[in-house]
Amino acid sequence: MNPPTSPTPLFDRLRFVLVETSRAGNVGSAARAMKTMGFSELVLVNPRDPNVLKDDEAIALASGATDVLERTRIVGSLDEALAGCNFSVALSARLREFSPPLLEPRPLAQQLAADGGLNAALVFGNERFGLSNEQVGKCSALVTVPANPAYSSLNLSQAVQVLAYECRMAALGEARVPVEIGFRGEPASSDQIERMFAHLEQALVEIEFLDPDNPKKLMPRLRRLFSRAQLEVEEVNILRGIATQLIERRQRIRK
Ligand code: SAH
Repeated sequence: MNPPTSPTPLFDRLRFVLVETSRAGNVGSAARAMKTMGFSELVLVNPRDPNVLKDDEAIALASGATDVLERTRIVGSLDEALAGCNFSVALSARLREFSPPLLEPRPLAQQLAADGGLNAALVFGNERFGLSNEQVGKCSALVTVPANPAYSSLNLSQAVQVLAYECRMAALGEARVPVEIGFRGEPASSDQIERMFAHLEQALVEIEFLDPDNPKKLMPRLRRLFSRAQLEVEEVNILRGIATQLIERRQRIRK
C-alpha cells in the first residue's frame, strides 16, 4: 500500500485573479496583501496598462512583494485566467439576481482549506465597474464581504487582503501558534502563590487596611483578582517585595 500523500496546502492551490484593473497601485498593493498572507499566484486579465507590472507605483506599493509581481501572469480573458482551476469564486460587493451560490469569506475559506482537491481562483473586478454578470456567471460561487450596508465597496486590494487573511486562517487551522504579547515568564507554583497571599495579608493587617477581627471578603476578592492574572514567579516576588516594604516601614514608624 502506498503511504497516504499529504494534501496540497491551500497556499499552493489558490490563485488571485484581478480583472481589468485600472490602477497600477492596486496591483502592487494586492501583491503585498497576498504575500503577507502566504499566497503568491497572481493573474491579471486585461489590465488597463499592459506594462502595469513595471509601473513605478505598482512596484512601490508592492514593497517587499515585488517577487509576486515578477511572477504575475497577464492573460487576455477570464477563461484563460481560470484554466486549470476547478473552483472559482467571484468577489462582489453587489448581490445579483442570477448568481451562483452566495457565501461569506469565512465559510468559503474553510471550504477551500478543507477540500484539498480544489484548485481555486478568487476573481476580483475592476475598481469602477466591478465584475460583469457574465463574468460572475462563469464562477462557481459568489462571495461578498459583509461590510457596512451604507458603504460596502472596499478598495480592490483591501478586498484581496480580507480574502487572503481568511484563507490563511482557514489554511493554518489548528496549526496556528497563539500570539503571545510581551514576555512570558515562569508560572508561579501554587505554594509560591499561597505564601504570597499570607505575606500580603500580613502587610494589609499591618497597615490596617485589613481588620483581622472583621476581614469581610477582602482576601477572597484579592484571590479572585490574582487568579485571573496567571501570576509568574517574578510577579509574585514583586508583590512580596511590596509586602515586605509595607511591613518594615510600618514597624519603623511604630518604633
Ligand atoms: N463599484 C464596484 C466596486 C468595485 S471595487 C462595484 O459595485 O462592484 C473592486 C473589486 O473589489 C470588486 O469588483 C470586488 O471584486 C472587490 N470588492 C470590493 N468590495 C467588496 C465587498 N464588499 N465584497 C466582496 N468583494 C468586494
